[in-house]
Amino acid sequence: MSKPIATISRTKEIMDKYKLGFKKSLGQNFIIDTNILKKIVDKAGVDHETVALEIGPGIGALTEQLAIEAQKVYAFEIDQRLMEVLNDTLSPYENITVINQDILEVELDKFLSEHLNEGQSAKVVANLPYYITTPILMKLLMARLPIDSMTVMMQKEVAERMAAGPNTKEYGSLSIAVQYYTHSKVVMTVPKTCFMPQPNVDSAILQLTKREQPAAIVDDEEIFFELVQASFGQRRKTIKNNLQRAFSDRLSKEQLQELFEGADIEPSRRGESLSIEEFAILANVCSRLMN
Ligand code: SAM
Repeated sequence: MSKPIATISRTKEIMDKYKLGFKKSLGQNFIIDTNILKKIVDKAGVDHETVALEIGPGIGALTEQLAIEAQKVYAFEIDQRLMEVLNDTLSPYENITVINQDILEVELDKFLSEHLNEGQSAKVVANLPYYITTPILMKLLMARLPIDSMTVMMQKEVAERMAAGPNTKEYGSLSIAVQYYTHSKVVMTVPKTCFMPQPNVDSAILQLTKREQPAAIVDDEEIFFELVQASFGQRRKTIKNNLQRAFSDRLSKEQLQELFEGADIEPSRRGESLSIEEFAILANVCSRLMN
C-alpha cells in the first residue's frame, strides 16, 4: 500500500513524474495533509452508501479519501493534463469515475438522473477552486438538484460570509443567497500551510445542508434576490435609500412609502439588520406593488 497522495513527498513525486506545474489560474492549491482530508470526509458523513460528487480532484488527494469511505465517487476536473495523472494515482480504487469537464458546463440534473437511483441523493465534498467558489455553489443550489449536503473548502473569509447572521459585518447578499436554500455553518478552519503551493489566505470548511423548503416564503425569487442585493448596495445607507435607487424606475415615492408600511419595516434600518424572513416580507409587498 503506497503512502496517501496528500503528503508532501507523494505530491512532489507525482508532480515531478508528470513534469507538472501548478496552474494558478485554475486555483490549483493541493492539500498535503491527510488528517485534514479524513476530517472533511468524516464531517461530510460519507459512508458506504454515499454517492459523492467532487469538484476539482487535482491529483486525487481528497478523491482517494472519499473512495475509501464512499460507495461511489464522481469527480469533475477541468484540467486535461490531470487525466493521465488521476488514472495512475487512483488506480487502486474501483469506485471512482473522473470526468474531464468544467463543472460550470455540466448538465448536473441530467447527470444525476442518470447516475443516481430513484430517491437517492448525492453529497458534494470538495476543495473548491477559489476563483469560482460562488458561481459553483450558486449553480448547485439554484438548480434544486438531488444533493442533500455540500461540505466544501474555500477561502475562510468567503465561508464566514456565507455562514453569517444579521448584524455582523460579514452578513450580506451572499449570506442570504446561501442560507435561503441551506443551513450553513463553518465546521473547521484550515491553515494555509496545509496546501502546496501555499495560498495567501487561510481556508475553512463550510457545511451546507439543504433545507426541505427555502428559509422563507417568497412569491417572486427574482425580485427577492434583486431587493436583497439592492439593500446592501451601499452598506452604510438605509434600506429606504438603497431601494429608492434600485427601484425608482418601477416604484413611485408613494409606493415606496407603502412598501415599508405594508411590510411593517422601518425604512431607516440598514440591510444588515434584516433577517431573511423580513427580506421576504418586503419582497412580497414589493412584487404586489409592481404588478
Ligand atoms: N482536490 C484537490 C486537493 O484537495 O488537493 C485539488 C483542489 S484545487 C483547490 C482545485 C481543483 O479544481 C484543481 O485541480 C483545478 O484544476 C480544478 N478546477 C478549477 N476550475 C474547475 C472547473 N471549472 N471545473 C472543474 N474543476 C476545476
